[in-house]
Amino acid sequence: MTSFSSQTRANIEYAANLLRKSERAVVLTGAGISTPSGIPDFRSEGSGLWSEVEAMEVASLGTFRTNPERFFEWFRPLAGLIFNADPNPAHVGLAELEQAGRIYSIITQNIDALHQKAGSKNVIEMHGTLQTLSCTQCFHQAQAKNYLKAYIEQGELPYCQQCGGLMKPDAILFGEQLPQKAWYNAQRDSRQCDLMLVAGTSLEVLPVAGLPMQAIDRGAHLVVLNDATTYIDVRADVVIQEDVADIIPAIAEKVLNG
Ligand SMILES: [Zn+2]
Repeated sequence: MTSFSSQTRANIEYAANLLRKSERAVVLTGAGISTPSGIPDFRSEGSGLWSEVEAMEVASLGTFRTNPERFFEWFRPLAGLIFNADPNPAHVGLAELEQAGRIYSIITQNIDALHQKAGSKNVIEMHGTLQTLSCTQCFHQAQAKNYLKAYIEQGELPYCQQCGGLMKPDAILFGEQLPQKAWYNAQRDSRQCDLMLVAGTSLEVLPVAGLPMQAIDRGAHLVVLNDATTYIDVRADVVIQEDVADIIPAIAEKVLNG
């Protein structure tokens, strides 16, 4: 068990109390919740694999269309990390809270499916998922795991078994629109919640970064758990700047075991 400062312990207690009293809590997660699982946040400098500028150029719809070989080659090391990653205590804590009826839904910007692997059921994926691929010609959808070995080990591009067209991961690339249904559901849940828990996101990417504003404008409480400041900290009931893999299990423990 991590030892926290008395201020942090008081904040954990406060956040746990808000969750206990809440009737419809919604969580918004980002890359910071998956970094303890070994998945680098390509938006943060110094992650070692690539620069943000390179990521925005290569992981874009434009590069996928004009130079898919470059896209898939660039993505190869990340794909391996994501598919082999395990959920960490932050994912597990949120899944336990959902199973106990304390969390209604999780809106995530992550494409790694670690919330689902941890046991969360009601997950809204704002940036799609790497678990499936869709054909760019006939829209046939397939499980990514069928293509994974050949891609990661030999760099083979995924082609459709129905028509031979190139398959695109169902993750949202730069320059691509957010999935409409996910965006609709995320806005609905943000407007209907009485507590929003922001976890592991610095809220730098619009339009998702605006969701906590939609929640508090309708009277919801706001808890921010992130290792860096966010624009909305000033409007939060409580802000805890610590590793989410330490904080979320501590909050879940308080809520579930008193
Ligand atoms: Zn096809």
